[in-house]
Amino acid sequence: MSRDRSTGRVDETTDVAIVGGGICGLTAAIALERRGWEPTVYEAATEYRPVGAGILLQTNALLVLDRLGVAERVRETGVPLDDSAIRSPDDRVLKRFDLDRVERDEFCYGFVAIHRADLQRILLDDLDATVRTGMECEAVIDADRPIARFADGTRISPDVLVGADGIRSAVRDAVAPEIEPRTLDGVCYRAIVDVDLPERHRDRGLEVWGEGSYTGGAPLGDGRFYWFATVSEATAADLNGPHEVVAAFRERFGAFPEPIPLVVDALALDDVFATGLADLPALDRWSRGSVVLAGDAAHGMLPFAGQGAAQSIEDALALVDAIARHADPAAAFKAYEDDRKARADGIRAEARRLGRLGTVQSPLGARLRNLAVGLVPDALFRRFRRRRASRTSLPDGAVGDAGSGS
Ligand SMILES: Cc1cc2nc3c(=O)[nH]c(=O)nc-3n(C[C@H](O)[C@H](O)[C@H](O)COP(=O)(O)OP(=O)(O)OC[C@H]3O[C@@H](n4cnc5c(N)ncnc54)[C@H](O)[C@@H]3O)c2cc1C
Repeated sequence: MSRDRSTGRVDETTDVAIVGGGICGLTAAIALERRGWEPTVYEAATEYRPVGAGILLQTNALLVLDRLGVAERVRETGVPLDDSAIRSPDDRVLKRFDLDRVERDEFCYGFVAIHRADLQRILLDDLDATVRTGMECEAVIDADRPIARFADGTRISPDVLVGADGIRSAVRDAVAPEIEPRTLDGVCYRAIVDVDLPERHRDRGLEVWGEGSYTGGAPLGDGRFYWFATVSEATAADLNGPHEVVAAFRERFGAFPEPIPLVVDALALDDVFATGLADLPALDRWSRGSVVLAGDAAHGMLPFAGQGAAQSIEDALALVDAIARHADPAAAFKAYEDDRKARADGIRAEARRLGRLGTVQSPLGARLRNLAVGLVPDALFRRFRRRRASRTSLPDGAVGDAGSGS
């Protein structure tokens, strides 16, 4: 398939290549297929391995997946949460996500906790497109007539190249070469834990905002719990090997609200893995010539708003809709950026603010933070969540209340 390069117009015969077969790349490929395209996905990993972590998909992600016809499978495979709460270490509820009252009632979807490998499998199963694994893109030359060069020597020259290759994107250099990820003083540990949870914890998620650490998670069904915790880089640097890591968390979280002590007691040494915390500064642009960025490549964000994947999923549908509506790639990418950039950048900035709050190290600072969070009126918190869901980028579809802001 090839576009007539002399006219530069985009239609279903346009050759679209997606670099990066993560959540964003696979969702974009599904959205393209729904519109009659036959994209090719180029993924660096040599195979899709089960990743030892879960993910929380919030309402906006599920609304987009619903539009693509995969939300039901995600909901059946994962665990739809009854509610979720932010708690203090002494078990006070600082804020409750009463999902029935806002998300489920007004938008039909609450939050779903799912194993990342299950989500990946659902997206891959839905796809007819070719996913070429073991294809690490090294560079993209000439954004106007892009040539992507891969580590194995392969070169491709698609009509449109989508960079969905994550926060350390190689494609991004063709669009915004000056951009580098910025770190936050924090390391996030994650694990999927086999644990016999008491009934009352089998359908609710939690976060506990402690002094210098932040922990929580959600049940994934079948006796599994997705657990995470952050500590400062200095604390992480003092922990030598998995024994010390697990021992430190058992000590630190032993008196935290249930089910955290139960979960950290059941941590298997080999299953805990660490990720340094980083995000991107705002990019001036998301596209150049025929190259366009999506997902973490465009707006990698800290995990504290639980929105990175959701925003990537929103990008995928919005980008494909824009490509389908505009024959001229420049017009398509402008429409996509107009739709997406302010919202994604706003949420990325919010995630950084939450990250600073979540990783406060001083005991006094942490107590003041928890006091302040507890004082936010529930009505205001609901309004904020209503706005988050109602502003989902759903081409051609309004979603409930149209509040202001992101
Ligand atoms: C600790 C933590 C917890 C999180 N929790 C949540 C959550 O609960 N909810 C939520 O919505 N978000 C969460 N996120 C964010 C979410 O994981 C990301 O925003 C999301 O995975 C972004 O998807 P993506 O496809 O854009 O990028 P990625 O998931 O990074 O996928 C990029 C893909 O591109 C491939 N790739 C990379 N480089 C190349 C290359 N050069 N050539 C070819 N392929 C390449 C990679 O192998 C990968 O498959 C969390 C993030 C972290 C770090």
